[in-house]
Amino acid sequence: TMISEQLFSTFLYIWIALAIVIFPILLKIIVPYGRHTSSSWGPKINNRLGWILMEVPVVIVFSWFFFTGDAPKSIPVYIFYGLFMLHYANRIFVFPFKMRSQSKQMPWSIIIMAVFFNFFNGFFNGYWFGTLSPAYNLSWLYDPRFIIGLILFFVGMYINISSDNILFNLRNGDKKGYYIPYGGLFKYISSPNLFGEIIEWTGWALMSWCLPSFSFAIWTMANLIPRAVDHHRWYYHRFTDYPKNRKAIFPKLL
Ligand code: NDP
Repeated sequence: TMISEQLFSTFLYIWIALAIVIFPILLKIIVPYGRHTSSSWGPKINNRLGWILMEVPVVIVFSWFFFTGDAPKSIPVYIFYGLFMLHYANRIFVFPFKMRSQSKQMPWSIIIMAVFFNFFNGFFNGYWFGTLSPAYNLSWLYDPRFIIGLILFFVGMYINISSDNILFNLRNGDKKGYYIPYGGLFKYISSPNLFGEIIEWTGWALMSWCLPSFSFAIWTMANLIPRAVDHHRWYYHRFTDYPKNRKAIFPKLL
């Protein structure tokens, strides 16, 4: 092992603290991609290419540390790895090609920040499961944390993908621009896709029950709750007939 468990956990605590510091900052600013895109954050690149470039690093870094590490890999650990990759297979090979915003651009600065995040997220989880993690017993597959986490993961993934699909379908035919989405959890919240993603990674953290995976769930909340709040405000400004009872991201709550 090149990094001791103690050094690793010190870095990991710093990493989690960073998410907690960044959260209120993100609540104050609007990150300029998608509907909020702007030129104020410097030069830009094609949206679809941007998404692929942003998300590929985590797959490479996670896999590298996972497979080069010498921890004995148990079946539960392969399941965590497989589900993580399943999510990113969709995010890299499906999601960018379903988007109907090809002509749109996003700032390089967003990509650099996302790559930074993905590098560390890939490192913490890959190095943990590859090298440091104690082996999981097969009986872990019957543990309530594993079972409930697994269910949450798939429910979250379903909510995430089906809500993204509702959004893509708003631009059926050659329609452009933005419309009020209806159906599914859009009845209760403005960003069920972001809500689903939070449920998904909370489930993944629960089923693997370790600090690196929880750090990812915390980072996901720190990123997506502010974004959902921005989306929600944007909808209200944009559409005077926007449904009044909708919340931003947590049904009935926020
Ligand atoms: P959005 O909901 O803003 O956009 C998703 C897609 O739907 C975009 O192609 C967007 O087009 C289109 N769209 C959104 N709303 C409308 C509308 N009202 N009318 C027509 N088209 C619409 O999602 P985000 O960009 O915030 O996130 C995209 C995905 O990435 C989500 O699944 C999210 O969970 C995930 N993500 C995960 C993060 C993490 O930390 N784990 C961080 C960031 C994102 P356009 O681009 O033109 O706006």
